[in-house]
Amino acid sequence: MKIVLATTNRGKITELRELLASEPFEVVSIADATREPFDVVEDGDTFAENAIKKARAARALTGLAALADDSGLEVDALGGAPGVRSARFAHEHATDAENIAALALALRAKNLTTSPARFRCAIALVLPSEAEPIVTEAACEGSVILTPRGENGFGYDPLFVVSGKNRTMAELASAEKNAVSHRARALAKMRDVLVARANLPYLPKKSK
Ligand code: IMP
Repeated sequence: MKIVLATTNRGKITELRELLASEPFEVVSIADATREPFDVVEDGDTFAENAIKKARAARALTGLAALADDSGLEVDALGGAPGVRSARFAHEHATDAENIAALALALRAKNLTTSPARFRCAIALVLPSEAEPIVTEAACEGSVILTPRGENGFGYDPLFVVSGKNRTMAELASAEKNAVSHRARALAKMRDVLVARANLPYLPKKSK
C-alpha cells in the first residue's frame, strides 16, 4: 500500500520517512504523487483540524491514503504562542531563521531568557475507502532559550532544550530526536491504533 505524505516541509518529510522506514508500506511525497500544487490554507484552531484538512486535500489530489502532520511550539510565557501559527510566527512566508529571531525577540520583550515550552504534533491518516480520519496527538516537553544552539533538525529545534537533556533538539542526532519527539510519539500512537484495528490489509498478520 502506498501512503502519500501531505506536506511540503522538507524537515518533516525527512523525519517522517525515517520514522516510517520500517513500516510495511511505500511512502511517497506529495511532489512525487502529483504535479498539482499542494497549497492548503491552515486556518484550523487546532493541530488536529489542520492535519485532517491537509490529509484530506492530499487524498483528493492523489487518490492515495494520506498522512499529514500538523505541529508547532507552545511557549508558556507567550500564552501558548506561536502554537498553530508556528510556521508563520514572524510573517506569512517566514523562514525558520526569521521565526527563531521572532521567538527570541518575543521572550526578550518580556525580559525573559527562558520559558517552559512544548512541541505538539497531530498526525491524521485518511484511507482511500474511509470517510473518517484517524488522528493521534503527542507532545515533547522542554524549554526555550534565546540563543540558537546546534545544526540538526529544522524549525525551532535550535531554541528548544529537551526536558531531561541539557541539549537543544538541534544538538541531538536524528535518531535521538526520533526517540523522544512529538512527531515520533504521535506516529507510535498511530501505529498502535492501526495494529488494534488489525484488519488492515497492509499490516503483517499476527502469528498465533
Ligand atoms: P505546520 O505544521 O506546517 O503548520 O508547521 C509547523 C511549524 O512548527 C514548522 O514550520 C516549525 O516551525 C515548527 N515545528 C514543528 N515541528 C517541529 C520540530 O520537530 N522541530 C522544530 N520546529 C518544529
